[in-house]
Amino acid sequence: MMRILAWVAGGLVLSGLIGFGAVWFSPGLQDALMRRVIADNTGTNETVLRGDALHVVFCGTGSPVPDPDRAQACTAIYAGGKLFFIDAGLGGWNRMAAFRLPVGGVTGILFTHFHSDHISGLPDIALNSWAAGRRDPLTLYGPPGIRQVADGFAKAYELDDGWRIAHHGPEFFAVAGAAFRPVEVDVPDHETAVTVYEEDGLKITAFLVSHEPVEPAYGYRIDYKDRSVVFSGDTMRDGTVARMGKGADVMVHEALSTHMVGLIEEGLAAAGDRRTKVMHDIPSYHTTPVDAAKIANEASVKLLVLSHIVPRLPNAIAERVFMRGVGAVRGDGVMLGYDGLDLELPAGSGEIVQHDLR
Ligand SMILES: [Zn+2]
Ligand SMILES: [Zn+2]
Repeated sequence: MMRILAWVAGGLVLSGLIGFGAVWFSPGLQDALMRRVIADNTGTNETVLRGDALHVVFCGTGSPVPDPDRAQACTAIYAGGKLFFIDAGLGGWNRMAAFRLPVGGVTGILFTHFHSDHISGLPDIALNSWAAGRRDPLTLYGPPGIRQVADGFAKAYELDDGWRIAHHGPEFFAVAGAAFRPVEVDVPDHETAVTVYEEDGLKITAFLVSHEPVEPAYGYRIDYKDRSVVFSGDTMRDGTVARMGKGADVMVHEALSTHMVGLIEEGLAAAGDRRTKVMHDIPSYHTTPVDAAKIANEASVKLLVLSHIVPRLPNAIAERVFMRGVGAVRGDGVMLGYDGLDLELPAGSGEIVQHDLR
C-alpha cells in the first residue's frame, strides 16, 4: 500500500514538474495561460446592483497608520442603481478594482472631513470612474473646504487629464468628466441633520461630529427605503452618532484602541522616536471600541461594524486585544470591519447578509 502511495505521489510531483517546465520554457504556453487569467479577471461583479437592496461595501477600513491589510477610509454604498463613496482614502480604489465592482456610474463622493486618509485616493476614483464611462463632472459633497480640496486636486491633475484626453480621445475620456462638482454642505449645529441627497427612495443626511481641531467634521446617515446605515466619520464620543443613528440597521463606527496606542507610545518613547507625540495626541479625537459598542447600544442598531481601525492588527492576538472589553458591553451584533466586507440589506426585510468579496 505504502509503495503504491509513494508511486502515485512521485508521479504527481513528476508530472507537476514537467508541466511547470513546459510553461517555463514555452512562450506559447505562457501566453495561453496569460489569456486564461485575463479572461477570468475581466468583467465586473454586478451582484451589488442586483435586487432591491442597500449594499455597504468596505473598500478601506484603515487609517493613516500604514497597514498592508487595510486601505485608508473608503466605503461604497450601492442602492437603487446608484453608487456613493463615503470618503476616498488611499488604496480604496485598488480594493474596488480587486473586487471588480462597477464604478462607472458613481453618483458622488461624500467626504466626512479632509484629513489625508479620507481624500488621498480621490484621483484614483476620479480617473477610473472616468475610464469606466463617467462623462459628467464627479460630484463631491463635503463640509466647507470642499471647494478648496476639489480645486486643488483639479489643478494638480490638470496636466494628466489633458494628456489622457489627447491620447485616448474625447470620445473615450469626455472632457467634462475630468472636472469635479463640489457641493458644500452646511450643518448648523449638533442637533440638526441636513439632507444632502434625496432621490428614488435614497436619502442621505449629514450631521456634525467632534473631531477638533478638524471643524467641521461630519457623519452621514443613509436611508434606502426601509433600510439604513449610519457612519460616524472620525469623532470622539459625543452623543451625536447615537442620536443620529437611532434605530439604524447598521452603524459603521471608527475605533481606536487607546490601550494599544498607549503601548506603542511607550515603545516609541523608549526608542527615542519623535512620533511618540503623535501616539500621545491621537486618542483625544477618536473613539475606543468599547465606547463605540456603547454608542451602538444607545442607538439600538442591529449591527455595529468597527472601521478606521487604529492601530494595525496584524494577527488574531492583536485583534483580541483591540476588542478587549467589547463583549461585556455588547455581546453580539458587533464585528471588526475588513476590506472586502459587503453587507447586503434587502429592502422590505430585516436581514443583513454578509458577503466576503476577497
Ligand atoms: Zn480624521
Ligand atoms: Zn481618519
